[in-house]
Amino acid sequence: MVPAATPPSIAPEPPAAPRATRKCSSCGTTLDPLGPRPFRTAAVGELPEAVVTLELFFCSQCGKVEFYSTP
Ligand SMILES: [Zn+2]
Repeated sequence: MVPAATPPSIAPEPPAAPRATRKCSSCGTTLDPLGPRPFRTAAVGELPEAVVTLELFFCSQCGKVEFYSTP
């Protein structure tokens, strides 16, 4: 029995590469990315207040929240 010809296979698109995966520093669970969030810092002395954007990650296992600077 001759197998039917198969069309040339096209490599499937790889799934959208997740952005950097982070692991919880407490329990090692993969953190859920919550995306970049703006944070406003208070004015200190002569330094004016500023807004910094930090990437927020949440651990659904232990509840830890971690912040990372954005590139
Ligand atoms: Zn954790």
